[in-house]
Amino acid sequence: MRQWLGAAGAKRLCAGVASEAPAGGRSTSPLEVMANTADAAARWARYLSGRAYVPRAHLIQQHFASGKIKRLCDCGCESFDLAIAPDVPLESLMPPSNRGGCALELTYRIVGGTDREFVDFRVFVDARGYLSGIDVDFCANSAPMPDHVELVEPPFHLHGSLLAMTSNNRSSDREA
Ligand SMILES: [Zn+2]
Repeated sequence: MRQWLGAAGAKRLCAGVASEAPAGGRSTSPLEVMANTADAAARWARYLSGRAYVPRAHLIQQHFASGKIKRLCDCGCESFDLAIAPDVPLESLMPPSNRGGCALELTYRIVGGTDREFVDFRVFVDARGYLSGIDVDFCANSAPMPDHVELVEPPFHLHGSLLAMTSNNRSSDREA
């Protein structure tokens, strides 16, 4: 049993990615980079919300629709940060915790791609357990996200504390 499967472990694993964005300083030629857009953010949120292997997936779409995009990363990835106002009542994606963090990581190969080409997702929640952003990048962010990318289902890598949640359980059933 790996530590990172637990809620606390997952937070340790990738909370730093959300706040520090170590790849943020990367400079890629603007000519090679499709601008990251709110449409791309909406598309990825909708994509994940339709996956049967993502517990409570419908909440991802609901939370996305209830929030505002606060940041669209412009490094060539399609990551975004989302903020949901304090007065918006939602069923939380994860049990509340004192700082939130990464709840789920998924990695997909791409149709027509090589074994070295893949798309990574990291789904983040805030302290309330509300969606606070999704990182989407290509080849561990060593290259810009291609314009048209089709993912090979299912993801070959899937882990995170969200997997311990079930679709039907309410978040209050689990200890934070
Ligand atoms: Zn980026």
